[in-house]
Amino acid sequence: MAALEQRLFGTNGVRFVPGVSHDLDFAIDLGEAIGTYFGDGEVLVGRDGRLSGQALSNAVVSGLLSSGRDVAEGGLVPTPALQYSVKAMGSKGAVMVTASHNPAQYNGVKVSGPDGVEIPRLDEQRIEKIYFDKSQTKADWKTIGVARQETSVVRTYQKGVLSRVDAKAIAAGKFTVVMDLGNGAQSVAAPHIVESLGCKLITLNSIVDGSFPGRGPEPTPDTLKDLSAAVKSVGADLGVAYDGDGDRSMFCDENGRVMWGDQSGCLVADFVLEKNPGGTVVTSVASSQAIEAVAKKHGAKVLRTKVGAVELARTILERNAIFGFEENGGCIYQPHIAVRDGGMTTALMLECLAGKGMSLSKALSFAVPKYFQAKSKVEVNRKKVEAVMRAVEREAKGEAERVDGVKIWTGEHSWVLVRPSGTEPIVRIFSEAETQEAAEQLVKKFARVARLASG
Ligand code: MG
Repeated sequence: MAALEQRLFGTNGVRFVPGVSHDLDFAIDLGEAIGTYFGDGEVLVGRDGRLSGQALSNAVVSGLLSSGRDVAEGGLVPTPALQYSVKAMGSKGAVMVTASHNPAQYNGVKVSGPDGVEIPRLDEQRIEKIYFDKSQTKADWKTIGVARQETSVVRTYQKGVLSRVDAKAIAAGKFTVVMDLGNGAQSVAAPHIVESLGCKLITLNSIVDGSFPGRGPEPTPDTLKDLSAAVKSVGADLGVAYDGDGDRSMFCDENGRVMWGDQSGCLVADFVLEKNPGGTVVTSVASSQAIEAVAKKHGAKVLRTKVGAVELARTILERNAIFGFEENGGCIYQPHIAVRDGGMTTALMLECLAGKGMSLSKALSFAVPKYFQAKSKVEVNRKKVEAVMRAVEREAKGEAERVDGVKIWTGEHSWVLVRPSGTEPIVRIFSEAETQEAAEQLVKKFARVARLASG
């Protein structure tokens, strides 16, 4: 277990390659540790469409039953559908078998509490301690758990999303939507949501397939060229694409231009804040300064957290914020549930478009100030990470922010963030400025600083 450094959870749950880095016994032991952590009650289990999903989910269920928990098996569902259903069904918690947007060979386990939200970091450590100490509860023949099928997860979720938007207003917009499901888990939920809102729908890669033969499980501007082309050729109002487990959504406008999650997140935030002036929005230190301008318009507050959906979700709950977003296309609408949800975000984007009464490209340019971003990464030996971060900090003329990594403002509207990866021996460099050239220069400069210090 030395390779794990006594950690199981990464930024977003436990991730591994079944049959290569870990076998199914690992999933049984982890299931037992999670069951021991929950202590009593019924746990809801679901999986995305990965090839190893069925086997892994069976192993996790066995572990939960062995620890004495009862299990409701939700089957193949998007992650946000499972998380929403926990809350709606009053379960003790949920375990989702998913590796989100990772390549096809990966899988993993994500644990949510009774509110449907990913458990706090300290609770992840409690599960890790049970696992490494081998202090799992082992039920006997009388107390071992029982499993049942739960077929209502997707339906419950779809109803939940639809109840949060003005369906009549959206239907009146007579929108045409192209949806690239990427062979992922939203295939079983999102199309019905959009059709129920009176939109004309065209789907791409809509058959769930864990080998992800379409465009792969991660939606990015590079992998969404077919979506852009389809939007233009049918004259659609917008395009939307999801990641493998359906919690992230990327949009393209009527011209087929794919927006970064910052831009779509800021646009939806503008719409949500218009209806809830003075509210609070949560985002990480890595996303665009455009949100501060959007928030200011509505007398709203922006809170910045470490990178990671768990950080966002927990802050949203603690500070009673209404909305949160990440630059990778993850958006959280708290009145629905404080987790990232691609289906909910799609419904909100449609309501936003209906409310603004203009094309998506126009709505974006009116509501969200334009900044330019650049990204890079530098390989750094783990032992050198602190030296690199100190070297970066020395470059700050004024103060460096240390919420997550080191963030330095280099001008009124330009910043650079250098942040060690939680999972790989690299540091990631993000920048934002008023021109593309300036953003790229910042990234280049700090990549050089990182390389020199890692020497
Ligand atoms: Mg995901």
